[in-house]
Amino acid sequence: MDQFEILDPRFKSFVLPNAPLTKLGEGFGWLEGPVWFADLNCLLVSDIPNDRIMRWTPDGTLSVFRQPSGFANGHYRDMQGRLIGCSHRNRCITRTEIDGTVTVLADRHDGKRLNSPNDIVCKSDGTIWFSDPHYGINTDYEGGKQEPELPPYLYRFDPRDGSLRVMADDFAGPNGLAFSPDERLLYVAESGGQFDENPTRHIRVFDVLDDGRTISGGRIFHKVSPGFTDGFRVDEDGNVWSSAGDGVHCIAPDGTPLGVIHVPFTVSNLTFGGRNRAQLFICASHSLYAIYTNRRGAQRP
Ligand code: MG
Repeated sequence: MDQFEILDPRFKSFVLPNAPLTKLGEGFGWLEGPVWFADLNCLLVSDIPNDRIMRWTPDGTLSVFRQPSGFANGHYRDMQGRLIGCSHRNRCITRTEIDGTVTVLADRHDGKRLNSPNDIVCKSDGTIWFSDPHYGINTDYEGGKQEPELPPYLYRFDPRDGSLRVMADDFAGPNGLAFSPDERLLYVAESGGQFDENPTRHIRVFDVLDDGRTISGGRIFHKVSPGFTDGFRVDEDGNVWSSAGDGVHCIAPDGTPLGVIHVPFTVSNLTFGGRNRAQLFICASHSLYAIYTNRRGAQRP
């Protein structure tokens, strides 16, 4: 099978025929939550079932960054560059301070415990947006079976006043999320009903209102097939690079499928990083891959 599947002529200039898909590591339980640290020249990535966060550096070294990790899942960096993340087991979102201590930012809403925060982004105003589906505590594999206490909401956390607000309450299982480069749009993956006969699986897009703090709409932006969208990222031109069952799908801002980078295993999440943010790091089930593209990830993280 060809490495690249060109669905729209634009995609030809997005990929590099001479840049190989490179396996960086294998033998993990299930990879998720990749985040690039340009200042440290390393990638952090969650190995959820093994309750650890791994660190990869371009010299090929893979090491354990944190274990136990609270069955960490999604990661991002805040405006000060600090690591923010999701914990299935501890049912919270956290921030790692520059002295290495881990602060729980939010673990409750309306007096009830969060379910299993899955993925997370930070907006330029400092607010932190995350998804809180049930499936991280549905099994012992990814965080220990626990009872959900809240519906699967999408939240916005404001570190300035500690407020936690529900931004969308009509998801079966919100998953990955990303803002467009101008932060006028918020994309959120719906991957709920995993054990249902007809699970709900697509990416929705919301309009961010002028106040920058509320959203409206939520129309279906794209349905990925085969498989479904878990995590995704946006490049500097607003194209969406989504996980899928057969690799990475690239979708134009108008919803047009542009092309596919084939990967041998189901992709759960990805992020841009490396030199000029042009390297795509791909969490592919039990293996970590990377490939250079001819696009650059959106400026942050
Ligand atoms: Mg996810």
